[in-house]
Amino acid sequence: MSDLSIMAKETKPGSDLEDQLNRARNIARKAGKTLTPVREHFYRRLLVEGPLGAYDLVEGLNGVASAKPPTAYRTLEFLLELGLIRKLQSVSKYIATPLTKSSSPMAFVVCRECGLTEQLDCAPYQAIIFDRAKQNGFDQIDSTIEISGLCGDPHCTDAG
Ligand SMILES: [Zn+2]
Repeated sequence: MSDLSIMAKETKPGSDLEDQLNRARNIARKAGKTLTPVREHFYRRLLVEGPLGAYDLVEGLNGVASAKPPTAYRTLEFLLELGLIRKLQSVSKYIATPLTKSSSPMAFVVCRECGLTEQLDCAPYQAIIFDRAKQNGFDQIDSTIEISGLCGDPHCTDAG
């Protein structure tokens, strides 16, 4: 229920969130698909809350749709195919693609101890890397870069 109240509060017309949701609905419609309530719910949570795992998303499904892992994975697959979200492979978490710059690459630094994930703004450097990959004959490049390290938390820096 708390998720539903978050939704109600954050979807004022003209807000950034509502703008992103409208863009997502348009992308789905152009692909001949529909953002069902569960798809929209996942996309909205990833936009608002940042990187989440499939399990976190299933837990928030009560009251929206059947809270079962296969539902979650099918939904995530759908959103990935449309480019609305991206998967952070190293931590098995998902993040919403900012649709204002839908084709822009995204870079993340991920703590390998605690999984803390932060987005890095380094688009010019990423463009160079992707250009090189294309020069090497690669196509359909996954435009998400993940860099692993240890965050500043003492629990993580002391580990190992
Ligand atoms: Zn950490």
